[in-house]
Amino acid sequence: MFVVSARADLDTALIELVEQGSTWPCAGEGERWYEGGPVKLAEVEKECVGCSVRELCGLVADEEGQRFGVWGGTDRTAEHVRLRARGVA
Ligand code: SF4
Repeated sequence: MFVVSARADLDTALIELVEQGSTWPCAGEGERWYEGGPVKLAEVEKECVGCSVRELCGLVADEEGQRFGVWGGTDRTAEHVRLRARGVA
């Protein structure tokens, strides 16, 4: 059985973007997608809106259980997720 992961699909999509001379918002700026707390990460979430691999990025986060930083336009940091669920963030 051949299983393709969201990570493999994302890696392929990013390679294709590079080959096309294109880019994506967090390219080369990964640290900003993880640091700065809820307010800064909420700003970073907006930068993902136009990303052509946004859906795949979110699928990777789901697949890998990512609980830190912004993935697919959503801050997955566990603390922030809890605050959002309570309507605090
Ligand atoms: S959707 Fe994912 S790959 Fe695209 S800018 Fe946001 S974090 Fe980066």
